Amino acid sequence: MHTVEIIGGGLAGLALGLGLRARGVPVRIIEAGKYPRHRVCGEFITGLDHDTRRELQLTDILAGARQARGVLWSEPGRPSVRHDLPEVALCLSRYHLDESMASAFAAAGGDLRTGCRGPSDAKPGRIMASGRRPQAGSRWVGLKQHFHQLDLREDLELHLGQGAYVGLTRIEGRAVNVCGLFPRPGRGEACGLIDRVRAAGLASLALRLESATPVEASACAVAGLDYGRPASQLAALGDYHGLIPPFTGHGMTVAMQSAALAARRLEPWARGRFAWDETLALLQQDLRRRFARKLAWGRVLHPWLLAPHGRRVVHLLHRWGALPLGPLYRLCH
Ligand SMILES: Cc1cc2nc3c(=O)[nH]c(=O)nc-3n(C[C@H](O)[C@H](O)[C@H](O)COP(=O)(O)OP(=O)(O)OC[C@H]3O[C@@H](n4cnc5c(N)ncnc54)[C@H](O)[C@@H]3O)c2cc1C
Repeated sequence: MHTVEIIGGGLAGLALGLGLRARGVPVRIIEAGKYPRHRVCGEFITGLDHDTRRELQLTDILAGARQARGVLWSEPGRPSVRHDLPEVALCLSRYHLDESMASAFAAAGGDLRTGCRGPSDAKPGRIMASGRRPQAGSRWVGLKQHFHQLDLREDLELHLGQGAYVGLTRIEGRAVNVCGLFPRPGRGEACGLIDRVRAAGLASLALRLESATPVEASACAVAGLDYGRPASQLAALGDYHGLIPPFTGHGMTVAMQSAALAARRLEPWARGRFAWDETLALLQQDLRRRFARKLAWGRVLHPWLLAPHGRRVVHLLHRWGALPLGPLYRLCH
């Protein structure tokens, strides 16, 4: 059988590795980092169906996740808005999730090479799952840190600040993950999470974080988020294929669902039943059909959360009881 080579051992790469090992396909994952490690992520998984969990051998790993349903939207100077998600979400740290998936992949006979960077040129059997592609000049920065002794008012608290939003959710071990997307700080401006929360006008949230206990080693940052498309001759999954705005809580699910689609297409290639060009064309078609609409709607809705006029419309609709939360959720999921 042919070996599938995956560049990047984040969620998409590890999920594909697990899905292929379950089908008996030889797989090598090349990962630049090491496990366990903290990642910038809201650690809030929405819309991940049970079939995908089973197909990717994730049922046991995700059994330890906390379940979440209630969401509280807060914005200074406006009444908070509370609602339930149409379906239960899962909360689990990336520190734990990526490490568990990497161990399961190695235990299933996968070849996992950490601490080395893989190439990015197209080659039969090579899948790019190396995450978001950095873009010089991007105006966003993502920051995250875990805290202890921090009480939450809902399963997920979403705080809207000036051009920024911050999510708080409880993960395993009673820790709370605090993760946000902020405008990139200017030269000389403080760039710690609490500094950015305060700079976004979220003073009372900054005070709450200051009186909690931070897990210093969990602090991390990411900049240069790119919403572009990969070159068409590449087989690309997860964020490398397309970035969905973080507020949807759906990026991890897109990574795992794209891995499940890819595993189904790659098995026949590995067994020599399909040529690579044909496999690549079918996979790209599958990914477009499944995700193009979600990614597009995520990008359309993203500015509404960040721009003051967009938020005014959202609040008015909510006050009149006309905010179509269920349909909006389904458009991005
Ligand atoms: C601020 C923020 C908040 C978010 N919150 C949420 C949320 O609450 N819920 C949600 O579902 N999603 C969220 N996301 C999105 C989610 O984190 C991503 O969609 C998900 O991690 C994508 O998985 P991936 O495997 O494509 O990429 P990643 O998880 O980023 O993995 C890519 C891997 O590739 C490796 N790599 C990179 N280059 C190379 C190379 N050349 N060679 C070898 N390895 C390489 C990296 O080390 C990394 O391990 C958020 C994103 C941001 C920025």
